[in-house]
Amino acid sequence: MSPTKVEDMYDAVIVGAGGAGLSAALGFYRSQEVADLRDRGIEPKVLVISKLQPLRSHTGSAEGGIAASLGDMEPDEWQWHYYDTVKGGDWLVDQDAAKLLAKEAAHTVRDLEHDGVAFSRTEDGRIAQRRFGGHTSDFGKAPVKRAAYAADRVGHQILFALWQQCVAQGVAFAEEWYVTDLVLNADHTASEGVVAYDVATGTTHAIAARNVLMATGGAGRLFHTTSNSHDLTGDGMALALQAGLDLEDTEFLQFHPTGLAHTGILLSEASRAEGGVLRNATGEAFMEHYAPEHKDLAARDVVSRAIRSEVMAGRGVADPKDPEGPKDCVWLDMTGIDATRMHEVLPQVVETIRDYAGLDPATDLVPVKPTAHYTMGGIPITVDGEVYIPTADGRQIITGMYAAGECSCVSVHGANRLGGNSLLDACLFGTRAGRSIATRVASDPVAASDVEGDTHALAQELVDASNRRKGIIDTLLESADSAEGTSQSDNAYALIADLGTFMEAHAAVVTDATLLDKAMAALRNDLIPRSELLHAHSDSKVFNQEITAILEAHHLCELALAMLTATRAREESRGSLYRSDFPERNDAEYLRHSFVNLNGDVSWAPVNIVDIEPGSRSY
Ligand SMILES: Cc1cc2nc3c(=O)[nH]c(=O)nc-3n(C[C@H](O)[C@H](O)[C@H](O)COP(=O)(O)OP(=O)(O)OC[C@H]3O[C@@H](n4cnc5c(N)ncnc54)[C@H](O)[C@@H]3O)c2cc1C
Repeated sequence: MSPTKVEDMYDAVIVGAGGAGLSAALGFYRSQEVADLRDRGIEPKVLVISKLQPLRSHTGSAEGGIAASLGDMEPDEWQWHYYDTVKGGDWLVDQDAAKLLAKEAAHTVRDLEHDGVAFSRTEDGRIAQRRFGGHTSDFGKAPVKRAAYAADRVGHQILFALWQQCVAQGVAFAEEWYVTDLVLNADHTASEGVVAYDVATGTTHAIAARNVLMATGGAGRLFHTTSNSHDLTGDGMALALQAGLDLEDTEFLQFHPTGLAHTGILLSEASRAEGGVLRNATGEAFMEHYAPEHKDLAARDVVSRAIRSEVMAGRGVADPKDPEGPKDCVWLDMTGIDATRMHEVLPQVVETIRDYAGLDPATDLVPVKPTAHYTMGGIPITVDGEVYIPTADGRQIITGMYAAGECSCVSVHGANRLGGNSLLDACLFGTRAGRSIATRVASDPVAASDVEGDTHALAQELVDASNRRKGIIDTLLESADSAEGTSQSDNAYALIADLGTFMEAHAAVVTDATLLDKAMAALRNDLIPRSELLHAHSDSKVFNQEITAILEAHHLCELALAMLTATRAREESRGSLYRSDFPERNDAEYLRHSFVNLNGDVSWAPVNIVDIEPGSRSY
């Protein structure tokens, strides 16, 4: 149920209802500060806004597992998880944050279990865990079972459990409301609130909030082949850019090696953890040449590049659905996995292969290729979820501005994320952000300053942003009638498809300066001007989803330019970023985070190295 009217002022607005947004809401409501407020008869005013019905959030698609050194099935230590995370991220990880991630992981998983996540079990009833790429015991010695799983549907379990807990807490949701603007005060030091578009009615709302948390997920839709659902258009990151904030490390976008050919739909890493092997056109299990020790379970960037090398060397295969098409796939061979176990622990993978490729993984080889999967970079945050701007001597915190989950960058993933670490990131740092918002709210709750009949004056910046947005949407609708037969035959969906194809050809898995320059020129000269001409084809205000698609197209274009700019500036190869013109990692110059803003300025800040000195990253 969405609100019929918005409050004059909220204590907090949470944008996004995936793992991060819901964890933040629970972290907030379960805090001691909120309990104390309620004891005083004060109910905090909080609204969770989501452009989707919350249970459609992409967190629900997560398949393989959530990482934690529980140590129940075999010996495991958080220090090993910490080391693997730093090495997996090619040393671009902020080690204070990664330490926290690894240390708090077991708690986070057990808390999820208590909230109702039905993890798969061992014979003796403990939480079952499986191997995942790059997770090892004893500082890289041997693979370890660290991903706690629920068959191959752990995200579905987590999303539903968190949502049910939020409902039990009475959290207020505005569903199918699309946040169009993030509004800061005039000198960009504090948040004022957001502007949101109610898709059901076509109305625009100015929503004043003392605290705003962005938890809007990733941006896989920048690429044509992606595992990400259609909503992952990088809205939160683009809104931050538009509000004058910087984005951190946007040049690092992870390609997952096993996207199902043609569709890009993810076949979980669990399929290799359970015994699946990648083979080239000659049937060779090629990963042993690229990662002698970890083979098919090396880190994702390593496996994706190996696939690309096989394809470039002429050892790729065509998708059987398109036998005359490009030989840009390799085989995933799951025939060695016991069929009964396959159905028990990989039901989703089996179903996807059957429904979308018409194949049976128990007997058939499955065509796969790398698929855009995860944005390592995002809105820069502290370990308490506070958004900051980097300054010459440190970090300037934006008062009341928070972020969590895939749209943020606390930098636990550095240049490449390990499997299972992002659900953990979203739930842990989401909860922490919720708690830090509670601390701020406790000192000055809105309800305490409410006076009967009195209203909180809206900040001028918020009023202006809301009027401007309303004007833009009105124009999109008003010109709808004249759209047919003019240049308006263009549409947001075609534009997003063209952008994805273009980004894929120029910036996926391997790139160089020439490709990047071409991509930036195409964005500036063609795609961005096209996006500015977009109009709706119907002037209906009710569920006119073309309006949000147009806004998403704008966001994707802005984000693409920022990402390409940061990629161009980093003249080295590290983690998910491989530049063929700078094939080596260059710690002397680039062991540092990039920050890019809407104007295309790039600045740099040091990586926080605590106790793991940069080393070689072999698997
Ligand atoms: C297929 C797949 C499988 C994965 N498997 C795993 C795995 O096994 N283990 C693992 O650790 N990670 C996995 N991941 C990654 C992980 O699922 C995500 O990184 C994580 O769930 C992101 O959570 P989030 O809360 O940040 O974002 P999301 O769950 O994507 O939620 C984003 C929310 O923001 C809202 N939103 C966005 N824009 C707006 C806007 N403009 N206005 C209002 N609301 C907005 C959406 O409605 C949604 O509620 C997988 C990802 C994919 C795609």
